[in-house]
Amino acid sequence: MSPLEILRTRFGYSSFRLEQEAIIQSVLQRKDTFVLMPTGGGKSLCYQVPALLLDGLTVVISPLIALMKDQVDALRLNGVQAAYLNSTQSGAEQDAIITKVLSKEMKLLYLAPESSFFRRLGSFNVSLVAVDEAHCISHWGHDFRPEYLLLNQLKQTLPDVPVIALTATADKVTQRDIIEKLALRSPAVFVSSFNRANIRYTVEPKKRSFEKLLGFLETRKEESGIIYCLSRVATESLAADLAKEAFNVLPYHAGMEKEQRARHQEMFLRDDVKIMVATIAFGMGIDKSNVRYVVHMDLPKNIESYYQETGRAGRDGLESEALLYYTYADVSKMKKFVEIEGNAEQTRIYLKKLDQMATYGDLVTCRRQYLLNYFDEPAPSYCGNCDICLTQVEREEGTVQAQKVLSAVTRLQERFGTNYVIDVLRGSNSAKIMDDHRALKTFGVGADTSKEEWTSIIRDLLAQGYLAKSDGTYPVLKLTAKSAAVLRGAERVMLVRSKEKLPTPMMQVSEQSADYEAGLFMILKKVRTALAQEENVPPYVVLSDASLRE
Ligand code: ADP
Ligand code: MG
Repeated sequence: MSPLEILRTRFGYSSFRLEQEAIIQSVLQRKDTFVLMPTGGGKSLCYQVPALLLDGLTVVISPLIALMKDQVDALRLNGVQAAYLNSTQSGAEQDAIITKVLSKEMKLLYLAPESSFFRRLGSFNVSLVAVDEAHCISHWGHDFRPEYLLLNQLKQTLPDVPVIALTATADKVTQRDIIEKLALRSPAVFVSSFNRANIRYTVEPKKRSFEKLLGFLETRKEESGIIYCLSRVATESLAADLAKEAFNVLPYHAGMEKEQRARHQEMFLRDDVKIMVATIAFGMGIDKSNVRYVVHMDLPKNIESYYQETGRAGRDGLESEALLYYTYADVSKMKKFVEIEGNAEQTRIYLKKLDQMATYGDLVTCRRQYLLNYFDEPAPSYCGNCDICLTQVEREEGTVQAQKVLSAVTRLQERFGTNYVIDVLRGSNSAKIMDDHRALKTFGVGADTSKEEWTSIIRDLLAQGYLAKSDGTYPVLKLTAKSAAVLRGAERVMLVRSKEKLPTPMMQVSEQSADYEAGLFMILKKVRTALAQEENVPPYVVLSDASLRE
């Protein structure tokens, strides 16, 4: 039989989705295979169909007992010989399953990575190993599980068996880490589009967020939703507050009794309760198609988590909402917590990811584009279904403003953060400013623009990639590959039109423009040097003839 025939006769579907077919072919050719496909995309079939076409046993490593049970039940309904082995079973149950495995009746066997049976794999007739939720093996993923590290023995135990690793959430670093830890041999890599077009992304300032939340829920009383909070205490108190407002709501977190947790989850799945106020402990493997909204009361620690969590909305393809209440105070708070067992590299990556999450909150450009680009997927600058695109931000020419910022950053040798750069631009008389910097040509060239306005201009430049921020606790502003074209006037910059255009001059700058152009010349020298190796450098249109002769 062909994969398509298996799909039709055993699973009752008419055609493959996304890259399923190509992935299945790769597995059938006994290649190690890495699959990145969004939640709900259909990863399970990528190993279930081959399992029915291959001679021996397919072993599926899966992190959650509940997940295993659901999958095995579904397979059995389709008449597939499948079972799982885990600690909830009696010795007799386990023996019965092993007997079937050894007699080669079994097609699929689900195992937890910490399972004692893992060591016995060598004695089973294994033709394929599938590692589901493979990001759990990586510290860089958002749901690291130490027991997954046992899987690095896989290739030693079963050197000739192909491995397929599947996940819905892994950036480039995590992907490489998964491939390395599982010791996949030049794997075929499949990455499907991550776009969830039916999810509308919105960010609101985290101020009076409870009132705002009530407003949001007002029109959604009949709908199912998940509200994520950072702490267990917060889930309990928010659930209680919402219950007081007559919402049908329950909390969920890992500190609750196991039975209670299971009960709450079950009630949510059956639509007996509409709102689950939960920590991130809630959600993995929950296949509930009609979740209409996911709200984050606190900032998630990275984009992977955020995308995974919001991805639980709208699995039925209908319009859904992803709403984040954002304040930079959350970032500062989370930065204070970070000390990953003295591992400097991990701390650095953690902080970087946190900053990337914060940037999402600050965006002035399309949120979907940012999310997709984060996962290295190209996307247009207008999606039409996020708060930014929907409010149709008005833009205006801001090339000179951008040049002022970039020139200040250059002259400060890319060693200072946003506030310092703004102080220099505005010619602040603060004692913090070093004397050398008061002498800079760009000192005070932006005195006519308020601090708030400069802050939003810099955010805008960061979002558009004309500037970058370094990692770490005290990020500094850096130039990017896109900066040079702006500095030399070869690229126009469109900035979001600001609402508050209050001129609050701090000091008079005489002959600002002449001064400014002369200043630019110094920078352009640097840019020119940097570009010296490049051919066909466009002319420096910003400079007057006089300053060029200087
Ligand atoms: P993932 O593990 O990627 O989150 P699943 O494997 O659980 O996704 O599949 C999600 C849903 O999509 C399931 O209900 C599954 O039966 C369905 N599905 C998967 N592939 C197909 C297909 N080719 N045609 C129709 N439905 C599919
Ligand atoms: Mg899955």
